Amino acid sequence: MTPRLAIVVPCYNEEEVLPETNNRLLALLSRLEELQLTTPESTINYVDDGSHDNTWAMIEAFAAADTRVHGIKLSGNRGHQNALLSGLLSVEGDAVVSIDADLQDDVSVIEAMVREFNTGTEVVYGVRDSRQTDTVFKRNTALIYYNFMKKMGVDLVHNHADFRLLGRRAVEALRQYGEVNMFLRGIVPLIGYRAATVKYDRAERFAGVSKYPLRKMLAFAAEGITSFSIVPLRFITLMGFIISGFSFAMILFIIYGKTVLSAVIPGWASSVVPTYFLGGIQLLSIGILGEYVAKIYLETKQRPRYFVEKSI
Ligand code: UDP
Ligand code: MG
Repeated sequence: MTPRLAIVVPCYNEEEVLPETNNRLLALLSRLEELQLTTPESTINYVDDGSHDNTWAMIEAFAAADTRVHGIKLSGNRGHQNALLSGLLSVEGDAVVSIDADLQDDVSVIEAMVREFNTGTEVVYGVRDSRQTDTVFKRNTALIYYNFMKKMGVDLVHNHADFRLLGRRAVEALRQYGEVNMFLRGIVPLIGYRAATVKYDRAERFAGVSKYPLRKMLAFAAEGITSFSIVPLRFITLMGFIISGFSFAMILFIIYGKTVLSAVIPGWASSVVPTYFLGGIQLLSIGILGEYVAKIYLETKQRPRYFVEKSI
């Protein structure tokens, strides 16, 4: 059966790039329909994540000009993941593709995704073939991050951002994850079902500047770790064991030195240094613990993730 496709595009202050994005996506929909890969009811669904510029006015204009275009406007800036989620969970369609507004992801690859879906695949990941266009800094930090996450036991699809196709079943599965701190890249592989990847070259941002400055990038990375892995907590326990063992051995050694060898215990260093050392370790451990407690705190509140202000 030919699927009805919905393309979800989160937008935060994207007025510079949106007209081009809209043209390309509409052209793509027409092409897919011509090839009879999707039905004519297929849609483009923009999510305005509380933009301060003309983004929403543009989306309204696109919707007025073409019935295939729809949009929702969130009540404020909720961040990329929440914007994406609000789109995924609100659209109809048998297959839902999520793509960034900035045209860094290759729009034409959606055709390959749909073909893959039509063979019975439920989840299709868009995977970057090369990261030539990313800065050396971004490329390397991304690589370190993937490797680190793997060590932490979090299964991420390598070089995959949030460009993917989800079948209706996968979307409904996603709906059942109630967590407030959504990290879609980590959640989607947990859903299971048949998955595949399609490769593409990541382009440079078509226009405008990145909405992900270093600060947000780091926050996002930390989010990914503490939302999915309890390895840091285990690490604290392990460190506690090692350090207590070591301290215990030190005590024995001091007793031995004092009673058997009658040696003078050298200066204050032996008592002061461990104090500082342990103090430091404790602070660090408490800090990591606090991260998790904060998570529990936020999750137990069950706060709503977003509000839709308008919908067209
Ligand atoms: N975005 C969003 N809310 C935000 C930040 C970003 O909806 O708070 C959207 C943005 O409009 C874009 C996508 O998320 O469509 C990815 O952002 P960006 O391209 O700036 O990130 P980068 O590619 O630089 O990591
Ligand atoms: Mg981008």
